[in-house]
Amino acid sequence: MSASVWRIRHTQYDIREMLTKDLAICIRAIDYSETSQILTFFTRDTGKIGAIAKGSKRPKSSFGGPFEIFSYGKIVFADSNKDKLSTLTEFESAYGGAGFSALSANLFRLNCCLFGAELLNKLTHDYDPHPQLFDDFLQFLKNAGAGDNNSEMLILLILFQLSLLKETGLQPVLSHCVNCKSRYASQNTRHGTRDTGHEIYFSSSINGLICRDCEASFPDKIRLSPNTAGCLSNLKLLAGAQKKTLKEIEKLLIFHLTEILGHKQKMAKYIINS
Ligand SMILES: [Zn+2]
Repeated sequence: MSASVWRIRHTQYDIREMLTKDLAICIRAIDYSETSQILTFFTRDTGKIGAIAKGSKRPKSSFGGPFEIFSYGKIVFADSNKDKLSTLTEFESAYGGAGFSALSANLFRLNCCLFGAELLNKLTHDYDPHPQLFDDFLQFLKNAGAGDNNSEMLILLILFQLSLLKETGLQPVLSHCVNCKSRYASQNTRHGTRDTGHEIYFSSSINGLICRDCEASFPDKIRLSPNTAGCLSNLKLLAGAQKKTLKEIEKLLIFHLTEILGHKQKMAKYIINS
């Protein structure tokens, strides 16, 4: 057998061997040609992958139509070379085609989910699996589709962002001062959270809360309102928080994520300015 024939057979064998099945959510979809799309999937067991879906835009596509962001289901893909795009070979929607269509009925909810997808894409690496994060993102999308007001949506987004930071090893310290370890004490009153005497700051550089005694050493710190500090140190308080507080927390998270990523995120302005 000549070397070239052997190589071809060997390659075919490799591709057959490398077919992977996984549960996946589409977090980015780009038109590649008249008929094909390039997709970014966040999969449960493989992590993030880039894949080409050949013929996905043809009228009788075997994938059941073109992919949209948040298409969710079982995929099969060939990843013969991890430096290149995988080839999507099968897709079976887990939603019977309905997808997360309820999301597009409310622009703010849709924008929050697009922002979540953007952050997920930026903070994860290819072929680095995070099954818990997959489950959290799926639940976030489901809850977002079922939610009925913007404050509730902001809470979902805040919790998803915190889960994303945790699962990617960037969990901020919110229970005590990162520097001196003193705990933040807040009182939960009928009207929200009341500061019990100390000012609380957040520093992106040290990744957490900073007390009044330590704040001078952290030039990048941001002073938090008592309600915001209270909610961050006790996330259960988010449910009863005013919209103003939720927006302050979200603004802080966007600032922090911008510091971490080194640039602004495209969808952030649609969340803050709503
Ligand atoms: Zn301190």
